[in-house]
Amino acid sequence: MKPTSNSAQHVDITTSLHPYTDARRHEEKGPLIIDRGEGIYVYDQSGKQYIEGLAGLWSVAVGFSQPRLRDAAAAQMDRLPYYHIFAHKAHEPSIRLAEKLVEMTPENLTRVFYTSSGSEANDTVVKMLWYMNNALGRPEKKKFIARTKGYHGITVASGSLTGLPGNHRDFDLPAIPVRHVTCPHYYRFAEAGESEADFTARLLKEIEDVILEEGADTIAGFIGEPLMAAGGVMPPPAGYWPGVEALCRKYDIKLIADEVINGFGRLGSSFGSVHYGFTPDIMVTSKQLTSSYMPLAAIIFSEEIYDAIADNTHKIGTFGHGYTASGHPVATAVALENLAIIEEQDLMGNAARMGEVMQKALAQYADHPLVGEVRGAGLIAGLELVADKASKRPFDPIGKVGTAAFEFGHDEGLILRNVGDTLALCPPLIITEEQVHEIVARLGRVLDLTAGWVAAEGLA
Ligand code: PMP
Repeated sequence: MKPTSNSAQHVDITTSLHPYTDARRHEEKGPLIIDRGEGIYVYDQSGKQYIEGLAGLWSVAVGFSQPRLRDAAAAQMDRLPYYHIFAHKAHEPSIRLAEKLVEMTPENLTRVFYTSSGSEANDTVVKMLWYMNNALGRPEKKKFIARTKGYHGITVASGSLTGLPGNHRDFDLPAIPVRHVTCPHYYRFAEAGESEADFTARLLKEIEDVILEEGADTIAGFIGEPLMAAGGVMPPPAGYWPGVEALCRKYDIKLIADEVINGFGRLGSSFGSVHYGFTPDIMVTSKQLTSSYMPLAAIIFSEEIYDAIADNTHKIGTFGHGYTASGHPVATAVALENLAIIEEQDLMGNAARMGEVMQKALAQYADHPLVGEVRGAGLIAGLELVADKASKRPFDPIGKVGTAAFEFGHDEGLILRNVGDTLALCPPLIITEEQVHEIVARLGRVLDLTAGWVAAEGLA
């Protein structure tokens, strides 16, 4: 069917296929067209205001109206709107951003490779380690370990690393050799009566068993989000990451921190790996790198990996990998300005301070009849809704109640995300204390409206 009307809604439902959207339902519902942004708020075409409680897609650190990013983009557009960095070419913004990223990240991370998205970055990590191991003459060392409920993107390789059933089942993935180990979420995956320390120990043993079963000589990397975000906001149990790091060192497995959401202050620390006390060999960043004003991802990695690729002792071909937009000058110029703002305005410190306020205020909802667990770190939080608090019994089907809450959020002027029945909050890092309390108050009304609806539907 071709559009018969000129309205944007009509044109949208007759011309587009949206990501992660039920297509037929979208035709009935139509799009909510977001028209403009200001600080932590966005406005739809009718002028209705929403708090963007998820910072877009967990990404807009500086809010939705930062003129310095517009100016940085315009200045770079004027000077050199595009150039590539293939085959010995370079330009100043991508050079200066690499310098900045090396300075900001832990000392062992000394080299930068650019892509345009988190998914491409994780694909690049896979290929970089495959290439490295071929260059080192150990072609059998190619497998990955990831975790169930991990999110690493949706391309063929990154989607294989992702540990969510819908991303695999419906797309014939995984397509690369990967083993998924247990999700490190104590509330859901601990056994009855198991202490947090015992849970950590069991998960570490599982990882070591997988390494021994597959053979350490066949495993290239272990990838994880320091705090698992898109799979449901799940902080790791104490001791988990130092334990994973020790196993990676013991078996010569490269440790990859997917910091696409965690990075640049989200948890109230510079990076998630810093927050949880481990040192990765590779860090993957995106989203808050440019506040998503421009598409950009950066992989920051060790000199050891760089040397293996550069030395290429087994004389395979030149590193034949890279994108037209790798290091794009406008995107890297915007990232530099965005990181300058994060530093000048101490947005990481603000995330730590406001995060504490937010986590403390959200803790009150642990007593709400629908809420099984309130969890998070810094300015990211999840509230898991359950049918029965005592037994932690989930709603059946999972996601129906979460979706209802998500929609009540719109009514209340709060955009959040439901991951199944977990409600996720991840507001811009510029948030003020008053705005934190406003989010929490709106969320309280959403919970009460949802509880009323659950009762009316007879779901609990
Ligand atoms: N890694 C993580 C941890 C993510 O959260 C995401 C996106 N939510 C990705 C990778 C993929 O990034 P993109 O959507 O830019 O491909």
